[in-house]
Amino acid sequence: MTIKGHVLLSTNLFVMTSLLLVERNEYFISYGLVFYSVFLMGVVFVDIDEPNSWIGKKLFFLSYPFKLINITAKILLWGFGVEKKEWYRFFEHRGLTHMFLFVFIFFVISYCLFKADMKIMSHIVASFGFGVLTHQLGDVLTNTGIKNYFFPFFIGKNFKTPITFSTGGLFEIIFNACLLFLLAIQIFLFFESKELF
Ligand SMILES: [Zn+2]
Repeated sequence: MTIKGHVLLSTNLFVMTSLLLVERNEYFISYGLVFYSVFLMGVVFVDIDEPNSWIGKKLFFLSYPFKLINITAKILLWGFGVEKKEWYRFFEHRGLTHMFLFVFIFFVISYCLFKADMKIMSHIVASFGFGVLTHQLGDVLTNTGIKNYFFPFFIGKNFKTPITFSTGGLFEIIFNACLLFLLAIQIFLFFESKELF
């Protein structure tokens, strides 16, 4: 999925969640934009494991060290005589940052912050984690899917939806146009039909 597709799909999910689950009180009005900004960072951050991705090129000072760590980890695995291919996948593109485990870490941190009475920080971390999750959902819609998504469970399984499309292909363009339309409806609802909530 292209960066445009990811941002469109994720923004749709963010607005949809806000419409359905979040009470639109003063707190949300004040911090909504902060949460959305952090959420978007989460969406784009996921591809940091690939220096050739949109974010990987922009933040090359992060994506190259990330790649270097991955290569080192693979050499170490090889050095320790690990033969299972699945362990090597952990350190490739669509590796750790594309696994549920990665989202889980953010939700655990968010929960701990909430328990420690740091409500805003907790919501900021959760927004980032939610961004990561919606990015992963976008990748599951593509032909490549995500292998070992529930690592260390279901090892070897490639997760993708029954209908998938190729990144940047015609189907994705049509899909993006539908997402844009859906987003427009949701934004209209968000601002116009306050009485619904
Ligand atoms: Zn990705």
